[in-house]
Amino acid sequence: MSRVGVVFGGSRGIGRAVSWLLAERGHRVVVVSRNVEAAQATADSLPGGEHVGLSCDVSREQEVQRAFETITKTCGPVGYLVNAAGINRDALLLRSKSEDMVSVLHTNLLGSMLTCRAALRSMLSKGGAIVNIGSVVGVKGNAGQCVYSASKAGLEGFTRSLAKEVASRSVRVNLVVPGLIRTDMTAGLKEEDAGRRIPLGRFGEPKEVAQAVLFLLESPYITGQVLLVDGGLRLVM
Ligand code: NDP
Repeated sequence: MSRVGVVFGGSRGIGRAVSWLLAERGHRVVVVSRNVEAAQATADSLPGGEHVGLSCDVSREQEVQRAFETITKTCGPVGYLVNAAGINRDALLLRSKSEDMVSVLHTNLLGSMLTCRAALRSMLSKGGAIVNIGSVVGVKGNAGQCVYSASKAGLEGFTRSLAKEVASRSVRVNLVVPGLIRTDMTAGLKEEDAGRRIPLGRFGEPKEVAQAVLFLLESPYITGQVLLVDGGLRLVM
């Protein structure tokens, strides 16, 4: 059955790969990012028709509210929600600026809470599935990434709790936890160095994370789970 799938952070990287797989399955995709041209360009490049690009800063409550009003009015009720919008401002805590801490927490953690709350308004009556995107750093911690790690660890508790809150209404909520994936976010890292630490010996591709996201969206009896897609990195961290 074709559904409306909303992908925050869908213009690039992991979110873009998720948008592609959703479109290939015949779903109508709403690609969301702050940059509307990028979101629209990605929407236009997807297979199938009638995909939509929208601008929304996920950390701003009113923008999120307005985005969902537009989506339900133009596309109908949201069946799938993927929260792939994320930023990092990596620094040792002693050197971290307060405004960077707020940006990271508001984008990565509060942003997912706002989109989930808004999506639930249609999902509670018709059912649906949500996948949030965490990070292996949220599971194990990493020096220089305290704030990013806290935002991603917070998503794990949020995902499990929300899964309990909404299971009786046929809404499922899961978390995919990537390791090091080749996207703009990791462009500054040298794969020769970082890849050596990963048991599978290389960075992951966005599509390899997207496949796990699709699996969870489409698995009717899985909720509240955390699925690592990290080439084994968690095993050696
Ligand atoms: P990219 O930097 O490639 O893409 C990030 C996406 O999020 C873009 O579409 C960007 O668009 C959007 N975005 C950023 N801030 C906002 C905002 N405030 N509101 C709306 N959209 C926003 O990142 P990745 O694809 O690598 O990361 C996707 C998710 O996966 C993130 O949550 C990240 O933390 C997580 N992750 C990534 C890993 C990796 O190795 N790449 C590892 C572990 C986790 P725009 O800038 O136009 O808003």
